Amino acid sequence: MLRNCRQLTVGIVGGGIAGLQAARDLRAAGAAVRVFDKGRAPGGRVATRRDGAWAFDHGAQFFTARDRGFAGQVVEWFRLGVVAEWTGPFRTLQRGVFGDDPRSGQERYCGVPGMSALARSMAGDLEVASDVRIGSAVRDGRGWWLRSEHAPDRGPFDELVLAVPPAQAVGLLPADEALARELAGIALQPCLAAMVRFERMPDALRGGMFVVDDELAWVSHDGGKPGRSGAPTFVLHATPEFSRRHFELATDDLGARLLAALQRSLGAPLPPVASCALHRWRDALPIAGPSAALPCDVGRGLTAVGDFVAGGRIEGAFCSGRDAALALRARHGLAVA
Ligand SMILES: Cc1cc2nc3c(=O)[nH]c(=O)nc-3n(C[C@H](O)[C@H](O)[C@H](O)COP(=O)(O)OP(=O)(O)OC[C@H]3O[C@@H](n4cnc5c(N)ncnc54)[C@H](O)[C@@H]3O)c2cc1C
Repeated sequence: MLRNCRQLTVGIVGGGIAGLQAARDLRAAGAAVRVFDKGRAPGGRVATRRDGAWAFDHGAQFFTARDRGFAGQVVEWFRLGVVAEWTGPFRTLQRGVFGDDPRSGQERYCGVPGMSALARSMAGDLEVASDVRIGSAVRDGRGWWLRSEHAPDRGPFDELVLAVPPAQAVGLLPADEALARELAGIALQPCLAAMVRFERMPDALRGGMFVVDDELAWVSHDGGKPGRSGAPTFVLHATPEFSRRHFELATDDLGARLLAALQRSLGAPLPPVASCALHRWRDALPIAGPSAALPCDVGRGLTAVGDFVAGGRIEGAFCSGRDAALALRARHGLAVA
C-alpha cells in the first residue's frame, strides 16, 4: 500500500479490451492511469479495418456474455448504441452442405457500426497514447519506466499492467523477471484473415458460417451484420494449423488459397472478386483454458492481463482486466467505485 496517501500511478501497456477495462476500473477508484498502445487506435484484436467505402471486422467477429459483470457492460453498450444482437444465421458449412448452428441457444452481439466501436466507447476520456510501441519496461527505486524509440522514458509508475499477449509481454521484460518466465510458457495460436469484396452477393453465403475444412475455419458476411450496408464483403479466417504453416506465404497466394477453400466448402463457384486484403494475426486465440490465478508479482508491482487469463475471447479479456483492477485496488486500499 502507498504511504502518505499519494495517488497510485499505473502504467498499462496495451489498449485492448483487457487493458481498457483495467484502466477504467482503476481510474474510477482514484488511480492516475496511462495506457500505451502501438496501434493507431485502441482495441487490439477487436478491430475494424477500413478500405475506402468498405469496412471489415477482421479480428473478433462477435461476442457472447455469460459473466454477470460483463453482461452489465453489454447493457451499457446497448444504451450507448454501440452494440446490436447479430442473429446470423449461424450454420456449419462442409462440402456444400449447410448444417445447424453448432452452438445454438446463445445470443451473439457485435459492435455497431464495427467491432472497433466497443473499444472506442471504452476508451472514452481515458488517457490513451496511441501509436506508441513500448520496447521495454524496467524498474528502479522509483517505480516502472516504459521505454520506446525516439521518446523519453515514461514513468515512474507504482504498478505496471501488461495487457498484451504473453509472448509480447515476455519481450518487454528483463529476462530475470519471474513473471517473464511464467508467461513464457503460454502460447496463443495464429490466424490468417482475408477481407474479400465480391462484385455481387454469392447466392448462399449469409450470416456466420463455421467451416469444417482443413484450411478454412470461418466465413462471415461482414457487410450483412447489423448496422452495415449489406455490401458483398466477407471475412475468412484460416484454421490455426493452416495459419501456422503458411503464416509467411505471399499475400496473393494466401488470398487465392483461402478463396479456393471457400469455393471447395461451398461446392459452387464464387462471384468475381473485386478486392482481397489480408491480415496476419500472430497471437489470435489462446490455446489453453483459463489460468488458475492472475499472473502477477506483487512485490515488483507487476500484473499481466488478457484473454489468455480468463478463457479467451472478448468476455475473458474484459473479466481479466476487471479482476486485475480489483486485485490492485485491494492491494492499495483503493475505494471500490
Ligand atoms: C481472428 C480472430 C477472431 C476472433 N474471434 C473472436 C470472436 O468471435 N469472439 C470473441 O469473443 N473473441 C474473438 N477473438 C478474440 C478476441 O479478439 C480477444 O480475446 C480479445 O480481443 C483480447 O483482448 P486483449 O485486451 O486481451 O488483447 P489484445 O486485443 O491483443 O490487446 C493487446 C493490445 O496491446 C497492444 N500492444 C501489443 N504490444 C504492444 C507494445 N509493445 N506497445 C504498445 N502496445 C502494444 C496491441 O496493439 C493491442 O491493442 C478473436 C480474435 C482474433 C484475432
